[in-house]
Amino acid sequence: MDFAPSARALELAARTRAFMDDVVMPRESEVMRHGFSTALPTLLPLRDEAKRRGLWAPQLSTSLGGLGLSLVELAFVGEVLGESPLGHWAVNFQAPDAGNMELLHLAGTEAQQARFLEPLARGDIRSCFAMTEPDRPGSNPTWMETTATKDGDDYVINGHKWFTTGADGAAYAIVMAVTNDAAKSHERASMFLVPMDTAGVVFVRNLPVMGEAGGDWASHAELRLENVRVPSSNLLGEEGRGFALAQERLGPGRIHHCMRWLGICRRAYGLLVKRAVERPLQPFRALGHQQVVQHWIAESAIQIEAARLMVLKAAWTIDSHGQKAARDDVAMIKVMVARTLGDVLDRALQAHGGYGLIDDLPLAWFFRHERAARIYDGPDEVHLTSIARRILSARGLPG
Ligand SMILES: Cc1cc2nc3c(=O)[nH]c(=O)nc-3n(C[C@H](O)[C@H](O)[C@H](O)COP(=O)(O)OP(=O)(O)OC[C@H]3O[C@@H](n4cnc5c(N)ncnc54)[C@H](O)[C@@H]3O)c2cc1C
Repeated sequence: MDFAPSARALELAARTRAFMDDVVMPRESEVMRHGFSTALPTLLPLRDEAKRRGLWAPQLSTSLGGLGLSLVELAFVGEVLGESPLGHWAVNFQAPDAGNMELLHLAGTEAQQARFLEPLARGDIRSCFAMTEPDRPGSNPTWMETTATKDGDDYVINGHKWFTTGADGAAYAIVMAVTNDAAKSHERASMFLVPMDTAGVVFVRNLPVMGEAGGDWASHAELRLENVRVPSSNLLGEEGRGFALAQERLGPGRIHHCMRWLGICRRAYGLLVKRAVERPLQPFRALGHQQVVQHWIAESAIQIEAARLMVLKAAWTIDSHGQKAARDDVAMIKVMVARTLGDVLDRALQAHGGYGLIDDLPLAWFFRHERAARIYDGPDEVHLTSIARRILSARGLPG
């Protein structure tokens, strides 16, 4: 097992670091103060600069204009980008577009790739992914209410979706809908490419997540699909393959999130240590002289190091043996890194007192936006159950 960074990964991580320090982080305060959509016109030049510096789309293959990195190499870059809420967006590596690009790359026809993938890879448009529904458990995506009924050469889609990240302003959605209710649970649903301006796509609202409805890419919408008619050529992959495709999308998606969360951990940890050194509690006595704060620092350092090594090992396993071989590794890091993120952020915020709660620092933003890490792409409990079941079934206990 070798997940030492290649020379290319180190060089790219260093250039990404410079891009983050010089270009991205100085724009953060505007987003914190006015919100992403208001700040957007001033943020677009970040994307031009990322292209100019050769940092565009590190997750994509070179044929699509990306950097063609291995997952291990990507881990080093993804962590640096994760330090700012804007890092991934600035280089077109943001969810849900990165996952959608992956899906279209895997399953799109030539015509679908030309219309939906290429402009997304260039950053000319955005997309969203509409699977979760208010009235069915998102943790069990084999059981959904949204239907797509064949009608001549079209499909007619009806349903109710929510938590559709970035739907506000997206050019199209990839929608999961049941095409055959009588099929086996994993073969009921299919995926459809649905332009957002199709008649019957109703944008209900951006959900007020932790008190913030946000806008544009930084938002999560509720949508209704009312007799939405799309041609059969908008079916993505084969009919009945929706669940399998969702799993293929979620595999790399989860590890991408983990890389990003490590970046947030690193940022929060850096702020924690800085605060411990710089905040006096009384003359000649800093916060960092308190043993409890020293322990927060040490605990955080240990957790981040362990989480990073686990992410690298999962990335190496996927690079070397494929996604299936890394099933447990990915489930483990999804739980481990999301928990580490929560712990480190909480300590950093606590160490800043009231200052930690206001948006002069990115901690409160991360706190609001990243509590969700333990819920999306599979809640902790679902991953824990699947890890335990595989362990127990290997010892002969039937599921
Ligand atoms: C910020 C954010 C962004 C999101 N973006 C998208 C998106 O772009 N597209 C999209 O389709 N969805 C998106 N989601 C939805 C997300 O995938 C779901 O919230 C997630 O799958 C959980 O589904 P649910 O909310 O319906 O919770 P439920 O399925 O109702 O689960 C609720 C809770 O029950 C517990 N639970 C569930 N299953 C089990 C189990 N088997 N064993 C033990 N306990 C269990 C867990 O604690 C879980 O948190 C997003 C969610 C958030 C918060």
